[in-house]
Amino acid sequence: APRRKLAAGNWKMNGALADFAQIDALLAAHPDPGCDVLICPPATLISPMAQRTAGTPVQVGAQDCHQEEKGAHTGDIAAPMLAEAGARHVIVGHSERRADHGETDDIVRAKAQAALAAGMRVIVCVGETLEQREGGSTIDVVGGQLQGSVPDGIDGEQLVVAYEPVWAIGTGKVPTNEEIEEVHGFLRQALQKRFGDDTGAGIRLLYGGSVKPSNAAEIFAVPDVDGALVGGASLKADDFGGIIAALQ
Ligand code: PEP
Repeated sequence: APRRKLAAGNWKMNGALADFAQIDALLAAHPDPGCDVLICPPATLISPMAQRTAGTPVQVGAQDCHQEEKGAHTGDIAAPMLAEAGARHVIVGHSERRADHGETDDIVRAKAQAALAAGMRVIVCVGETLEQREGGSTIDVVGGQLQGSVPDGIDGEQLVVAYEPVWAIGTGKVPTNEEIEEVHGFLRQALQKRFGDDTGAGIRLLYGGSVKPSNAAEIFAVPDVDGALVGGASLKADDFGGIIAALQ
């Protein structure tokens, strides 16, 4: 089956109930978006957002989960709790979590496994720093993260991989189309080698890092780019709507 395009928004630590007006405006402008649309708000907003968007094309996800099902982990949220709140996807291994919370590939893989066990889909993020890109190790770094962070035994529909160069996140800098194509082509090959041609061909690959309406169409024309993981531009209906329109 052809891979369905995905526009995934990561609100990070932004947004409040009042911002649901942006989702109403997005749905008014794109009642039938023609691609999957996902918003991952802060955990406190998952339940009300899931209720507000029930029966609409907007799906709701989480930005992180704990790797264990329950226990003595003050302040953390387990995957089954997120699922009960209405999350259908979980982002794991975002570079901000890797950097701010010391998340290793092993931890990210355990989180991905927990999300899958709770019946959610998982978006695993990988990406190199500027220093790594300039040092010529992008493919090694991304390949290592992919191998270490993606669990075994996945099916192609449950897994999404997001390539997010750390230096492109929130900076307005974007890799060239050739640079994106090189990494996405590598990811596709590596996933097909590991999981078989069919499963590997079914896994969606998102690009993330300073995607906005003005550069989205160009990025979406790159082979093996099946959509975007969007930070800043997912907060406003006009911006996220412009990206969704570019995915058609
Ligand atoms: C992100 O953090 O996932 C992201 C892509 O951020 P931005 O779109 O703001 O660069």
